Amino acid sequence: MPVVTTEARHHPLYVPLPSAPPTAAPPAPAPAPVPALRLAPERLRTAVVVGAGAVALLWGLQARASARLDALFATGAHLTGLLAGYGVLVLLLLMARVPAVEHGVGADRLARWHSRGGRYVLGLIAAHAALALCGYAVHTRTDLVTATGDLLSYGAIAAATAGTALFVAVGVTSARAVRRRVGHETWRAVHLSGLLAAALGFVHQLAGPDVAGSLVTVWLWSMAHATVGVLLVWYRIVVPVRAALRHELRVAEVRDEGPGVVSVLVQGRGVARLRAEPGQFFRWRFLRRGLWATALPFSLSAPVRDDTLRITVKAIGDHTRRIRRLRPGVRVLASGPFGALTAHRRTRRKVLLLAGGVGITPLRALFETLPGGPGDITLLYRASDAGGLVLREELEAIARERQAALHYLLGPSDGSFDPLAPRALRNLVPGLAAHDVYLCGPPAMMRAATASLLRAGVPASRVHKEDFDHA
Ligand SMILES: Cc1cc2nc3c(=O)[nH]c(=O)nc-3n(C[C@H](O)[C@H](O)[C@H](O)COP(=O)(O)OP(=O)(O)OC[C@H]3O[C@@H](n4cnc5c(N)ncnc54)[C@H](O)[C@@H]3O)c2cc1C
Repeated sequence: MPVVTTEARHHPLYVPLPSAPPTAAPPAPAPAPVPALRLAPERLRTAVVVGAGAVALLWGLQARASARLDALFATGAHLTGLLAGYGVLVLLLLMARVPAVEHGVGADRLARWHSRGGRYVLGLIAAHAALALCGYAVHTRTDLVTATGDLLSYGAIAAATAGTALFVAVGVTSARAVRRRVGHETWRAVHLSGLLAAALGFVHQLAGPDVAGSLVTVWLWSMAHATVGVLLVWYRIVVPVRAALRHELRVAEVRDEGPGVVSVLVQGRGVARLRAEPGQFFRWRFLRRGLWATALPFSLSAPVRDDTLRITVKAIGDHTRRIRRLRPGVRVLASGPFGALTAHRRTRRKVLLLAGGVGITPLRALFETLPGGPGDITLLYRASDAGGLVLREELEAIARERQAALHYLLGPSDGSFDPLAPRALRNLVPGLAAHDVYLCGPPAMMRAATASLLRAGVPASRVHKEDFDHA
């Protein structure tokens, strides 16, 4: 099948693009990495629900039936408190970067679950505090202000109150409108204080009647916390530091790819052992002034070759602007690989890769490596104009080499013709409903494309996405 280069071809103002000069096909990638262990999202969800059930059972075993108002408040406070403690553990586990979870569930989905779960946990903490306060006030026949003063004189309750204040700060700075204003570094610093809040909550739970009621529950609760603590330290500190020492990554080359876009080639020892798969990303820390303090997520824009990793970065903010000034030799710390937008998600022979803007990066690597014969793989690449197409020559070389279909969908997003409308997609991709779709692009484009794909008959379970807004 020939390469088809189309500029929203049903549009009345359609102008064919000048064809790019032929380029040599890229060298063969390294052999496919050994499949990683992956936990399916449904399994993780089931495990979390079963865990919550076990916590409720623990509460049920300790609860004593009573119709007294203070006892009803107290028992409600115990249930919400235990579930909140368990919820905090789950939130930490989701962010521990355990490879089987990262590769199976995907970093963006984990981040979304973490964010939604955080709201539930805050609700449970608020309910716990209100019920405990009311229970105490009824029991001691005092008003709520006196009850609050009394309760705060207990060390474990003062600790829990401080922890709650920190959790509220985490919640407030994570609200979309606030997060946009405070900047990533501030958001991250406040978020880290959630660890202290979790520790203060743990102290409080150990002093409470449900956990402290028996040595077995104290042991089980402590073991659960210790396990999550060890996973956090291991995967977020030990593994990246060990990888940095082992691979000694350095910038090998910075290549201009067009206006505001560069590719960075990073080389090191035994990089193949990282088992990075096309479609995955790393969190990169370039040890240079202005960049070392932040780990920035960037997808691999090419499969791993000759101990070299490649990313392609669009300058949109302070950090990404500094990346184009990197020089060969700069040390790099890369933690990963992360992400589940890989070949293992595929369930059908036919695959549509649908990219928007710099979202082409993971799909470029998949375009080259997803197994398939002539006509099995189609890449649709949406951009506002031809100048916004990144890695274009490579894409055309791959399309020619693999006899894969490649269409550019150009034009403003508010134009009269919508190349992502269900009918337009069905015209471009015959048998669309029988495809797996890999989707990556700006949030608005991803939302519009997902809605169109569903309306065009692609089941949601076959739309696989990487969201550059969540990680
Ligand atoms: C999984 C994933 C893969 C990505 N792959 C690519 C890629 O291949 N090429 C590319 O050009 N861009 C990619 N991005 C986007 C890229 O990470 C951001 O554009 C970049 O971090 C912005 O940094 P900045 O300081 O220059 O911009 P800012 O203007 O400071 O930030 C712009 C946006 O990026 C977010 N952001 C900033 N710093 C971080 C950080 N340390 N971690 C997470 N988010 C952050 C901010 O919350 C904000 O929404 C990817 C993002 C994710 C989540």
